[in-house]
Amino acid sequence: MTAETVRCVRCGLDLSVKAFRANPRKRDGVNSWCRACHVARTRQWRQEHRDEILARRRAWYAEHADAEQARRTERQAARRRAALAEIDAHLRQEFAAERVRRR
Ligand SMILES: [Zn+2]
Repeated sequence: MTAETVRCVRCGLDLSVKAFRANPRKRDGVNSWCRACHVARTRQWRQEHRDEILARRRAWYAEHADAEQARRTERQAARRRAALAEIDAHLRQEFAAERVRRR
């Protein structure tokens, strides 16, 4: 380990400081695991707890179904408004161009 590299405690590789997430609580200012190890561990944890995660998500959706539906409806309406505004702007431009041509 040099000033620019840090040894990952998990994979044992000497890596650039940039390969580690900042952690002000650590003496060297970065996590002891490299980013790749954190990603791998998180992925593994998600796989191990897949059923738990899905069950929790399902419960959350069941509990918030109404709010979630309202949010979805509002998002669709906003998208529709944006599309209409775009068409409106386009037509205005065309009418303006047409008016110029008729002069
Ligand atoms: Zn690592």
